[in-house]
Amino acid sequence: MSQISGILKGLKVTFRTMVKTLFPGGLKNPVPKPSEGALTVQYPHEKEAPPTRARGVIALHEGNCTACMLCARECPDWCIYIEGHKELAPPRRAGGQPRKVNALDRFDIDYSLCMYCGICVEVCPFDALFWTPEYEFSELRLADLLHDKERLSEWMHTVPDFEEYEAGSEQKQRKVPR
Ligand code: SF4
Ligand code: SF4
Repeated sequence: MSQISGILKGLKVTFRTMVKTLFPGGLKNPVPKPSEGALTVQYPHEKEAPPTRARGVIALHEGNCTACMLCARECPDWCIYIEGHKELAPPRRAGGQPRKVNALDRFDIDYSLCMYCGICVEVCPFDALFWTPEYEFSELRLADLLHDKERLSEWMHTVPDFEEYEAGSEQKQRKVPR
């Protein structure tokens, strides 16, 4: 019995929403105007501006990435693919030993698997990953949702500037300048 009353309640909510959508002027003035009553926008003819901190797509600052693999290890979907190699860099001080550094060969994110959790951006210790609010990167083929490092780097110009922190809160110190 409780199941039937639950279904009836659900149907009532659906019906009320449908009437509000079809007749935004109310039933006293029942002129159907679904385009005014609908909460959705008529994409792609209309476009909403997402908030600056929206999770649209992830941009890579290649110069900051050390191929440490932390993001790939923490990604719950295993959709970050990194390959690199060691190379010698000049010593930090005159007369010092050359340093061994990681060079990035491959950095791909498969957006057909990504669930936009943001863990990779949070865990990166070198500020190499950033959210951008860009959301228009749909593709006809799933395989084209694999963004390589060149494509991920192209998103960098859409990364919004850091917003001012609320008065009294400690401002985050960026370890590596962008
Ligand atoms: S947002 Fe989450 S699922 Fe997507 S690549 Fe980053 S860690 Fe993986
Ligand atoms: S993006 Fe950050 S966490 Fe991922 S490999 Fe590069 S430096 Fe490491």
